[in-house]
Amino acid sequence: MAGNWSEMGMHSLEEARAAMLAGLEPMAAESVLLAQSAGRVLAADVAAAVDLPRFDNSAMDGYAVIAAEAGTGAQLQCVGEVPAGSAFENALQSGQCLRIFTGSPLPVGANAVVMQEDTRVEADCVEITEGVKPFEHIRLRGEDVKEGEPIGRAGEVMHAGRLQLLGAAGVARVEVYRRPIVGVLATGNELREPGEALGEGGIHESNRLALAELIRETGAEARVYPLVNDTLDATKAALRQAFDECDAVVTSGGVSVGDHDFVKPALEALGGELDFWKVRIKPGKPFVYGRLRGKPLFGVPGNPVSAMVTFLVLVRPGILKLTGTTDLELPAHPGVLVDPLANRGDRRHFMRVRVDATGQVHAAGLQASHAVGPLGQANALVDVPPETTLTEGAAVTVLRFVS
Ligand code: AMP
Ligand code: MG
Repeated sequence: MAGNWSEMGMHSLEEARAAMLAGLEPMAAESVLLAQSAGRVLAADVAAAVDLPRFDNSAMDGYAVIAAEAGTGAQLQCVGEVPAGSAFENALQSGQCLRIFTGSPLPVGANAVVMQEDTRVEADCVEITEGVKPFEHIRLRGEDVKEGEPIGRAGEVMHAGRLQLLGAAGVARVEVYRRPIVGVLATGNELREPGEALGEGGIHESNRLALAELIRETGAEARVYPLVNDTLDATKAALRQAFDECDAVVTSGGVSVGDHDFVKPALEALGGELDFWKVRIKPGKPFVYGRLRGKPLFGVPGNPVSAMVTFLVLVRPGILKLTGTTDLELPAHPGVLVDPLANRGDRRHFMRVRVDATGQVHAAGLQASHAVGPLGQANALVDVPPETTLTEGAAVTVLRFVS
């Protein structure tokens, strides 16, 4: 990647993202039991080893019949039953039917099932009160999934539905990418741990909590480190430890051009490569991207809103790339503004909004990079172009970050 871009002016979000993503690769693959694969990302394609359903079977509790003999009013002799998990040994003969249950294999010779609600039964005589057509109430072998068909592809996340599918197909183990461990650091002499006395000029630290949760939501593991003082030595020591123990590191604060901003010099002093991007977005202009021993450093600004927004639009896709998933985008949904959104600045502004279940989009309050008040309710961003006011009623795309 190109060297230090710091003096080369501002970069578009797309440029910064593309440059970052080009240098990132998914973690190594490992084999895990299917039962341990939930939330993991497949590292290899998976093909079905069996047909699903595996055999023709009944979709109802009722009677297996020969359809041609099972018109309304027909009377058949019931010659046995097929509970689920067993099979009837003989072929069904003319004039016969078999008691059958949902999921039971269809006996040889039968080609339909009459629901028990459509019969009148006396001893072993079954009268059909509602006739059936061939293949009615039958699930055919392979109609759902065919043997050899792809049922999972590298890059897909093992969510509940995929677990059902692979489980039903008898997959015992899957290849998944190793979960990246992402270190979370916060720099700033003013920061205090929760419960600690604030003293003069102290504030409660909150970025690590939010960033760690956003990291976990990518499927990565977050490892939270103690607060880092604004000195070169403390920043170097903290980064060295985090890079020793993690696959990637996210820092907050200390990336501006102030005298107390040590993330960049510390990374360089440790021998890391540094790309410092002033990304043309609001909030969150200063953003550090760099690498140490091939592992990425994502340095977000300290302002809580800037930290979250730069995480969502820049760091999140980078960490997702490490997890191996192929879907790097925030879920985008159509919405309609209930309140206007005005961006009077010259950078695109990712404004915090609350979108409700019907797609109505409400402004979430003060749109300033230090303003945490709206973050409790906001669940999405709207990318408002520079010098643009989107009026009430405007159709917008919301980028959801809370589901
Ligand atoms: P910085 O990016 O270090 O210049 O910090 C910018 C602003 O964000 C300052 O007002 C900091 O006090 C505040 N800030 C920095 N880090 C944190 C943090 N981890 N939690 C809450 N606020 C922070
Ligand atoms: Mg600071």
